[in-house]
Order: sequence, then C-alpha cells, then structure tokens
Amino acid sequence: MNGNLKLAVQKKGRLTEKSLELLRHCGMEIENYSERLVVTVRNFPMDILFLRDDDIPEYVQDGVADIGIVGENVIYEKQSKTDTMEKLGFGKCSLQLAYPENKELKTLGDVNGKIIATTYPKILKDFLNKNNLDAKIIELSGSVEIAPSLGIADLICDIVSTGNTLMMNKLKKSFKVFDSEAVMISSSNANSKNEILNDLLGRIRSVLKARSSKYLMMNIPKNSLDEIIRIIPSLKSPTVLHLADEHLLAVHAVIPSDTFWQIFGELKSAGASGILLLPIENMIL
Ligand code: ATP
Ligand code: ZN
Repeated sequence: MNGNLKLAVQKKGRLTEKSLELLRHCGMEIENYSERLVVTVRNFPMDILFLRDDDIPEYVQDGVADIGIVGENVIYEKQSKTDTMEKLGFGKCSLQLAYPENKELKTLGDVNGKIIATTYPKILKDFLNKNNLDAKIIELSGSVEIAPSLGIADLICDIVSTGNTLMMNKLKKSFKVFDSEAVMISSSNANSKNEILNDLLGRIRSVLKARSSKYLMMNIPKNSLDEIIRIIPSLKSPTVLHLADEHLLAVHAVIPSDTFWQIFGELKSAGASGILLLPIENMIL
C-alpha cells in the first residue's frame, strides 16, 4: 500500500470522461487508462480506481477507495454510508415516472394500484411512501423502457435527460421522482490522507467556481459608469481603467456565466462597446 489517496471513478460510462476532465483541469496528469483498473496520477499522490458506478459507494464505504465520483441516484439507491463532499455540476439527470402515450396519468394519485418497472426500487419506494401512494414495484436490471410494451408494467420510473429514449419507446414523462448529479463522496478512512484530500478539494472547488463564472470586459462612456455598475452582478467591485480616449473607461468584472445574456442588452443601451466575455481557467477566492 502506498500512501496515495484512492479515488474511484466510473470505468466506462456517462461519468467517465467528465470525471477525468475535471481532474485534468485540476492539473492532474492522467495517462491513458483504457483497459487498466488502477492508474497512478503522474504529478499528484493519487491512484484512480476504475469501477462500475454501482460498486463505487460500497468500495468507498468499505475504505477500498478513500473517495469516489458517482451519481446521487446511485448513492441513494445503495443507501451507502458515505459523506457527500461536493456536488460536481455534471451528470445531471432526473428519475421520472413515464407512461405509454396512449394512456393518461393526470394526477400523481393515478399511480395508485399501478405496476411500475424500475432499476431504482429504493428511490421509488421512498417516493411512493412520501406521497402516500400504493403501487407495485417491479425491479428490472435494465431496459426498463420496454416494460410497458411487454405488458409487464403500466408505468416506468427511469432516468431521463433529453427524453429521446422515452420518445422512441412511445412513452411520455410525467412526475419527477428524484434529481441527481455527480458528486464526490468520501469514507471516514479518508481522514488519514486529509492533506492530499484537502489539496484536491481546494483545486476542484476553484475549477467549479471558475466554470460557473466568466470574465467580462468592455468600454463605456465615462458618464454611464454608475449605471453600468448597477447592471453588473459582479462578485467583487469591478475594475475600472482609464483609456487614452478620456471620454471612455474600461470596465472588467467577474460575473456568473448564466447572467451575461440577461444583462447584455442593458449594457448596450447604457453605451457599452467592445464587449468581451472570456472563460476563466481557475479561480481562488
Ligand atoms: P456501469 O456500467 O458503470 O454500471 P451504467 O450503465 O449503470 O454504467 P451510465 O448510463 O453510464 O451507467 O450512467 C452513469 C450515471 O450517469 C447515472 O447513474 C446517472 O447518475 C448519470 N446520468 C446522467 N445522465 C444520464 C442519462 N441520460 N441516462 C443515464 N444516466 C445518466
Ligand atoms: Zn451502473
């Protein structure tokens, strides 16, 4: 056993690339992992274990891995005793109830007495209980969406992101059962490697923060400074610079990425020109 932090990542699936991309953004050099079970990061004391996502909570709970990246849906379904340290902003999806296009499901109460097929019986059971509903759950290990056409279930409860799979199977989504995204989990064991873990978490948080922010630059007429400052949802007070043209100022500010298009029109009306919006690589506050 080396003293490296052990991180479990999905071996091959929807979370794999995004997990590795996040680590690479954190400065980790990870060699081609294709068929390997364990890869040691070249420039950081960490081993990456590639596992099926369903196994990750248990491996982390048992301390085989110190930390792991996995969907909240899997953690909840497995009832794992792990701590969630950070939401990672990718792998977003939701578990939804869906029913055949030629049927109706007007209210949640219509679920009573129905048969629902799912790969997430625990999440579904808790949802039904919470809403005082009584339905029969059929647990399947995959291809849940074909259950209604096979006649073995009235409804399904499955992961939906775009809804394309549902459409192909002539199903309509209805009520949302659970929202999920990828998170970082840890075992209590990870404590002995606190220093490495804190280093990693610090880097991840700065990358996530940077991803949700943009650097805004523009030129403005001097007399509209107050108005421009009012419009910009800046994290800190914006930087104001003098330009060679004494009627103009340059204003720089860090803004939340999703607000740019909301304020763009207002900035233009207030006389802003030469507007640039740049990505931020890293952000330490
Ligand atoms: P494994 O072989 O590792 O068991 P899997 O088939 O169970 O893989 P994937 O389909 O790769 O799992 O999905 C992994 C996780 O990605 C899901 O548990 C969920 O948290 C998340 N996810 C995000 N969007 C979707 C989606 N559209 N469909 C399924 N999962 C999604
Ligand atoms: Zn899985």
